[in-house]
Amino acid sequence: MKITAIRTLVVHARMRNWVLVKVETDQPGLYGWGEATLEWKTKGVVGAVQDLSVLLIGQDPRRVEHCWQIMHHQYFWRGGITNYSAMSGIDQALWDIKGKEVGKPVCELLGGPVRDSMRLYDHLGGGSLEGMYRTGEPESFAELAKESVARGFTAFKCMPVPIAEYIESPAVLKKAARAVELMRLAVGDSVDIMLDLHARTTSAAAIQFGRLLVDYNLYWFEEPCWPEHIDALVEVSRALPFPIATGERLVGRWEFRELLEKRAVAIIQPDVSHCGGISEARRIGAMAETYSIPMACHNPQGPVSTASSLHVAFATPNYLIQEVVRADVPWRDEIVIGGFNVNQGSVSTPTAPGLGIDINETVALKHPWEPEVMMPAFHKDGSVADW
Ligand SMILES: [Mg+2]
Repeated sequence: MKITAIRTLVVHARMRNWVLVKVETDQPGLYGWGEATLEWKTKGVVGAVQDLSVLLIGQDPRRVEHCWQIMHHQYFWRGGITNYSAMSGIDQALWDIKGKEVGKPVCELLGGPVRDSMRLYDHLGGGSLEGMYRTGEPESFAELAKESVARGFTAFKCMPVPIAEYIESPAVLKKAARAVELMRLAVGDSVDIMLDLHARTTSAAAIQFGRLLVDYNLYWFEEPCWPEHIDALVEVSRALPFPIATGERLVGRWEFRELLEKRAVAIIQPDVSHCGGISEARRIGAMAETYSIPMACHNPQGPVSTASSLHVAFATPNYLIQEVVRADVPWRDEIVIGGFNVNQGSVSTPTAPGLGIDINETVALKHPWEPEVMMPAFHKDGSVADW
């Protein structure tokens, strides 16, 4: 069997363009889907897929690891999140082909399911210009939290901290803490709450904020500072009494090594569409297992990324919980054939061959590429802030 073509299908889905990757073979009707979505770098990823396809046309797609090694080694310049996202999309598609060819779900090829169901967590939103974190009041978080629980979710994540100053005022921090307090009161102690700081804060500000939250028993505190500042993450982890999580912006097992060696976080969050695909997520998960650290793959992307993440989840013993997006665009389910129903608190073991998903390309083509929404962020004095 040979790879005959690698194509991208870009689907504009409000916050981001989904970069769907289709790997075609010389076997009639046998192809695989992957996802390489990397918002604001969409054209770069599409180009990186084209660059990598030069290496892979003519290769046997069933030799997934061999193809991964070719993508990683055969060009002098390697690494970087754009290149790794392209590699990730292709890697997922190769696993999809391999599963379809033998009639087995990908998680079966990864050693078989290690659990019967996978817990999902919801996202309350806040990633858009109209998001609550810019305009809303603490009460709006509690309302969204109750809606999420009513849908069957037992865990959710939100972003109550606005674009932050290097050191934030008590007024801002107390308002964000009030949002957390109201969410906890609204959903009770049996629902898990995760906060994403989006690395808007310095480690010092994150610790200040975290100390206001000790009574609310957070499930995790995500990206409290820049993820490449491993020692700063160690500071936050040692200073606060709840688990710290990071990893969505790190790629390849090498970028996770120091994080694990220093026990800088309690949970790692590689993204299966950025970190190097299913193959690399598996390796990163195994590295984390060595340190008794659980993994929970980041996944705000489209349906192929979700399917790939869940196959890793079902085959990885130290997998904690899976992020899903259910309400980004109303036609989300229309472009998908098969796949997982993520509008609920958990999903059961997949049984369909490959990733168990296909794309309705006719519907997908109705939503062509558009520029992503710009998210300029500035401090009060006009200097540039982290978004
Ligand atoms: Mg995050």
